[in-house]
Formats: sequence, C-alpha cells, structure tokens
Amino acid sequence: MPDVSARSATLRDQFARHVAWTSDTPLGLTVERAEGPFLYLDDGRRIIDFISGIAVSSLGHRHPRVVEAIKQQVDRHLHVMVYGEFIQRPQVAFASLLAAQLPPPLQVVYFTMSGTEANEGALKLAKKYTGRTRLIGFERSYHGDTHGSLSVTGRAVYQDPFRPLLPDVTFLPFDDLAALSAIDEETACVITEPIQGEGGIRVPSERWMRALRQRCTEVGALLIFDEIQTGFGRTGRLFAFETFGVVPDVLTLAKAMGGGMPLGAFVSSPEIMATLRTDPPLSHVTTFGGHPVSCAAAHAALSVLLEERLPARAAEIGQRIRRTLRHPLIREVRGRGAMLGMELVRRDVTERVVGRCLERGVLLGWTLHSDTLVRLAPPLSIPLDVLDEALSIILDELNREEREQDEG
Ligand code: PMP
Repeated sequence: MPDVSARSATLRDQFARHVAWTSDTPLGLTVERAEGPFLYLDDGRRIIDFISGIAVSSLGHRHPRVVEAIKQQVDRHLHVMVYGEFIQRPQVAFASLLAAQLPPPLQVVYFTMSGTEANEGALKLAKKYTGRTRLIGFERSYHGDTHGSLSVTGRAVYQDPFRPLLPDVTFLPFDDLAALSAIDEETACVITEPIQGEGGIRVPSERWMRALRQRCTEVGALLIFDEIQTGFGRTGRLFAFETFGVVPDVLTLAKAMGGGMPLGAFVSSPEIMATLRTDPPLSHVTTFGGHPVSCAAAHAALSVLLEERLPARAAEIGQRIRRTLRHPLIREVRGRGAMLGMELVRRDVTERVVGRCLERGVLLGWTLHSDTLVRLAPPLSIPLDVLDEALSIILDELNREEREQDEG
C-alpha cells in the first residue's frame, strides 16, 4: 500500500496529465470531503470556504436535507427522457415551488443544466418572441462562455480569441442613464446582471434599474435579468431584482439553485415561453435539462433557504463583514448582502493576502475581471464563530502586510 502522500502525488500527476486546466496556475487543492462551511483536504487541513464554490454552496456543503432528497430520487429514477416530454415529479414540484416565490408573469420554468445554457435559452427566446435580432448587453458583464452568452459578455479580452461571435450585439455602459436611449425598436432584448459579479461586484442605482425597465417596455424589448450569481438569497433577498423594485421579462438562474447539483433555468411568462413550442415544434430542446436528481436537490435547497430565512441571514452576515473589515489597505467593501467584494490597494498586496489566508485555512476568491478585488461569498448558513474566525485571519494578514510594508 503506498502511503497517503505517495497517493496524493500520483493523483496530482494524473490531474496534470489528464484533466484539462483552465489556467496555468490552478489552485490544485485535493478535496477529500466537504461539510457545512468547511472543505477538508488530503493533507488533513480544514479550509473555511469563503467563496462557496463561486456562489453555489449557499446552504453550506452537503446540507443533510439536500443529501437526503438526492438519495431518495436516486432510488426512484435517474434520467428517463429528454427535457419537456415526460411528467417528472421533481421537476414539477420544484418549478411550482419556485413559481410560488416569483411575481405573476414569471410562472413558467424552462430547465437547463448550467448558467450559460440558461442564458442561451433566454436569448433565443427573446429573438423568436420579438422577431428582432439586436441584442444589448453591458460593459464588464459576464453571462457565460458558450458562444451566445459570450457574445453578450462585455469584456473583449475573453471574446477576441473566439470571433466571429453573434452579430448585432451592442454594449452600453452599466448604470448610465443617458446610454439607455440606444435601446430601440429593433432590440430583441437587453440582458444584465442586477449586480455585476465577475465585473467587480458593481451595484447599479435603483433609478437606473427603473429607467432600464421603462425603456425596455417602451420599445418592446425583453428585459433579461441574469440572476445566476445573485439569485437564491445571496444579496439579502431571494432575488436581487426585489431590491430594485423591478421585474424582468425573463429571469435566468443556476449556481445555488441546485443546492450543489448542476441545474439552470430561464423563467418567463406563459405567453412568452409558449414561443418555444411552435414554428417549429421542438425549437429549443435539451437532453439533460432539469435532471430529476438536480431538481430534487433544488427543491430541498429552496425549502431550506425559505424555512431558515437565509436571505435575511445573508444581509446580517454582510453587515457583520462590512463592520469588521475596516483597514487602511482596504479601499472599499462593496456589494449587497453576502455578495461582497473587498477592493484592496494594489495587485501584489491582493495576491499575497489571498495566498496567505489560504495557507491559514481561509479560501478567498477572485473575480474574472479584476486584480485587486477579493470575492467574499461565504455560505449563508456559516456559523458566526466560523465567520469571525475567517474575518480575524483576513485582518491579521492585512496587518502583517502593513507591517511588512512599513519595515520594507
Ligand atoms: N452568469 C453569471 C452572472 C455568472 O456569474 C456565471 C458564472 N460565473 C454564468 C452566467 C455562467 O454560469 P455557468 O458557469 O453555470 O455556465
């Protein structure tokens, strides 16, 4: 029997040779187990997960109700038919529970497997429903990495290697009232995150959000809210659009929805969603969308989220984080609820602090579009003593950085 470290070395070697990487510097931690707010590594270390698998594990890892729902569904059936043909109890139960949380027009759920696939469906729905082709997105937005979603993602550095992308896409500056006049009668849809996540945790003004809604209504363009990252309690309400007092025509969801299982959805009105049934029938289909095990997990996860009032808890822990994280090396802590970004003064400081926090057992994250912003997105269920432990390690490392700067 090889010892533990030899086994780990073999695993790392196979990871390097056979599993595709997305950068030259993956974190490369070997996770043995995850429970609540903790990840447990092969070397025995316990890590506080302060990014929740990028806003997925809002209930913490392996919530017992979610695990139980998965087990029960596994014992009944796995995949049985392409999405939309059979009546599958977990899909119906979850769609009904979700619809009950949403305002009246948003009552029909089209299930997918991921966030980007939800946005693909929403864009196609808007084009077919309006008969228009023009798509409008915002600078520094992120909507996913498949061709359609990437086409409306507002960062050229991620688009350029893959051109040509979809034609007839216009980008407007985010949170800019004057720019909204570019939304016109040729526009099929406008897609935006209510709070930009990868773009640097940017919260727009309520005034702008209302004007955006009004402009879309005026010209007959569908308004799509991508709540893939903001949804399911992360920002202090079940959905971020509630905090702005506007309702989109289409809502896209994923990440935390599946309670740790892969699941996405786009949600719209009965009238708009009916577009995908005809001319031709089956004009948008997916094999695995709304997998029954994922839907069973999602039903349990949403039930727990509501029963344990986790959206309100997101607001509480967000306030606690903001109160605690005050330091000369922090420029700003911004965001809503427990979707926060801590902007540090410089890139090298950010890299060192994030690296040292990880060595001391706190996993912090980055956002795709910024070098100085640290993502803070702990599970909404994180116990206060664990939250405080993580915050004191972060502050400790900021103090150390300051000391070293003074000395150096
Ligand atoms: N939209 C937003 C706002 C996201 O944050 C993400 C993922 N970071 C996506 C879409 C894409 O989701 P997925 O990775 O599941 O395709």
